[in-house]
Amino acid sequence: MNGGKIVNNRLDNADLISNVLKLIDDAVIKYHEANKRETTDKIHVTEATGCLRYAYFRRTVELKPEANYYTFMGTAIHDAILKFITDRTEIHVENDVLEGYADAIVEINGRKYVLELKTVKRLPQKPYKSHIEQVNCYMNMLGIDKGIIVYVQRSDGNKAVFVVDRDPDLFTVTLDKARYLKKCLDENKPPKIKDESFCFMCPFRKQCEKESS
Ligand code: SF4
Repeated sequence: MNGGKIVNNRLDNADLISNVLKLIDDAVIKYHEANKRETTDKIHVTEATGCLRYAYFRRTVELKPEANYYTFMGTAIHDAILKFITDRTEIHVENDVLEGYADAIVEINGRKYVLELKTVKRLPQKPYKSHIEQVNCYMNMLGIDKGIIVYVQRSDGNKAVFVVDRDPDLFTVTLDKARYLKKCLDENKPPKIKDESFCFMCPFRKQCEKESS
């Protein structure tokens, strides 16, 4: 026994509890702020390979900062693992349209691979289309023919590993989407191309519905 007093979630402790919860939420908000990337004139690889409308609203709509634990858990685990895979945690890639950060380049049995690490609630049977497109961008921009997407299940660390071949045609499609997004941003018009697999957790649903009607 250490003699500490256990305070539980009772009404008479409501003020204390709300202060403690605020401390924790504020820490998560600060983590997001510290890890936020500046947007530039170039389209980010994750913007061009995800929902283009989401990318548009993210750049044009100001959101009240909030503690997003879903993103926080994913980013924190992702960054912690990468830190110990390579001392260069990310590799900056850039061309005239796109820019981004590949997680790592690893060499296994004499062959180089672009490594893309994802944390997930449940392991997928096959890699998500947007993740293939993302790693394909890095492979094309780095001139590496093979990529590996690793999914790590957050609850127990189980993993699924997928090897991806470089696809120049898919890269052309992504570049076209990036140019289209840039045009939409320049013209202040939300893009028509969207990826609805992300809608369930999108903070821009209201704006998206309004602009569609
Ligand atoms: S609600 Fe869905 S389609 Fe609309 S911006 Fe968000 S993710 Fe994209």
